[in-house]
Amino acid sequence: MGKTEIGGAMAVTSIGHYINGARIAATNACTSEVFNPATGEVTALVRLADAAIVDRAVQAARTAFAAWAETSALNRARVMFRFKDLLEKNHEALARLITREHGKVLSDARGEVQRGIEVVEFACSAPQLLKTPFSENVGGGIDNFSLRQPLGVVAGITPFNFPAMVPMWMFPLALVCGNTFVLKPSERDPSASLLIAELLKQAGLPDGAFNVVQGDKLAVDALLRHPLVEAVSFVGSTPIAEYIQREAVAHGKRVQALGGAKNHMVVMPDADLDQAADALVGAAYGSAGERCMAISVGVAVGSVGDALIEKLEPRIARLRIKDGMEPDADMGPVVTAAHRAKILDYIEQGIAEGAQLVLDGRRHLVAGRDNGFFLGATLFDHVRPDMVVYREEIFGPVLVIVRVPDLAAALALVNAHEFGNGVACYTTDGGVAREFSRRAQVGMVGINVPIPVPMAFHSFGGWKRSLFGDHHAYGEEGVRFYSRYKSVMQRWPDGGASKGPEFMMPVNK
Ligand code: NAD
Repeated sequence: MGKTEIGGAMAVTSIGHYINGARIAATNACTSEVFNPATGEVTALVRLADAAIVDRAVQAARTAFAAWAETSALNRARVMFRFKDLLEKNHEALARLITREHGKVLSDARGEVQRGIEVVEFACSAPQLLKTPFSENVGGGIDNFSLRQPLGVVAGITPFNFPAMVPMWMFPLALVCGNTFVLKPSERDPSASLLIAELLKQAGLPDGAFNVVQGDKLAVDALLRHPLVEAVSFVGSTPIAEYIQREAVAHGKRVQALGGAKNHMVVMPDADLDQAADALVGAAYGSAGERCMAISVGVAVGSVGDALIEKLEPRIARLRIKDGMEPDADMGPVVTAAHRAKILDYIEQGIAEGAQLVLDGRRHLVAGRDNGFFLGATLFDHVRPDMVVYREEIFGPVLVIVRVPDLAAALALVNAHEFGNGVACYTTDGGVAREFSRRAQVGMVGINVPIPVPMAFHSFGGWKRSLFGDHHAYGEEGVRFYSRYKSVMQRWPDGGASKGPEFMMPVNK
């Protein structure tokens, strides 16, 4: 990082890349502004990589690959153990970097770091994760065993909303599987990735095994087309996920691309309404709705609609919306002024389409933060499935309520939506819960759990247009994605005479 002059007066930090074990000041002039969303101030200019810088990072990763792939899984895991310890020591610093550039409240940023650490903990079990089966004497003195070997250089392209956790869904497992990594974080909150790179180096990771290129589409396209990149993990919006999958496959790469969401929470008439209302408010407005697992649709079943709205209104009114650095903040600003404008536009469309605006967050003001990108919490009732506010991902503090007559109609609604990331059902009936979990066409289901993000030892991913590719993130799916399966048949001849060529398919008789 260094200081840059803007207009000869104001000096802001310049954020560069991390290649081959060192921060590098990029030579190209392209930059993008990084904001403190709570104040609206430009805090830094991030350098945007061109194809030459991406190539430098990929070449460094390729060079590091040879020795890293030969390092034992046990020693690779030991680097992760030390990294976990360093993450814990730097937990607060990382959380503060996230809040400063993303805007989410500090307690939520701390939680994000913790969920990332849990993937690192899982990766520490690399020797066990990479252990493969061996079948002795499958016939004629032959043993058959399998191996999981690294792919080479793999790339991660990540979204703004989890600048630490989502990269940690990827690189801990990629690295312990023996790959080397190039991360292209979101240009909106690039700083966390650089601290992570430095902690990995302190943990003993060899130079070049983990690199960061800051950038936008240009850098992404350079990664997608680079012949030395073997696999691409992506998390972001659906149109870009679809593009990433298409391009990566066209260039012969393995790809997993996680996309957007419109997560429903179904509230059955038998649900505990206080619990359901608390869960809806937390899941809809936490992180200002900028979570791929945020609940953005409440589905009120049967007669529950009016009572649910009655429970929601006072809870939403009590939300403390302020600078995320304030210790008692429940919700901070959204990430940029442009994103705020997009959310405002959605609210206008909801009103124009005839949805009932119960709570209007458009003019929410925060004292002393006049230029911050704040919005209040918005609640629409009587929303129909054909409305834009129902169909599209808004990714802001806007909750819509749809009313349906029964469980079958609720499931039909959930299953007809193009996205299938997460879903929740609030009920006290075990039969309903079982039916719901089995029938929902969604990758992650919560029963009386509003945001069912799987633990690090399970795997994360949606269905339908929320995921492109066939592997979910982290857990065993992550190990599979970042390793290549090989089967070996071996026979050690006993020195006897050859029986001559055999022309029949060998079988056990
Ligand atoms: P985004 O799709 O705009 O950006 C994601 C990444 O792609 C960034 O690194 C960005 O620089 C890059 N990118 C943007 N435009 C590109 C283009 N035209 N070509 C190539 N690369 C491009 O997403 P975002 O706004 O940063 O994040 C929010 C989105 O991410 C939401 O849709 C959210 O649902 C989704 N998300 C999904 C998950 C999940 O697990 N499914 C998790 C977190 C976020």
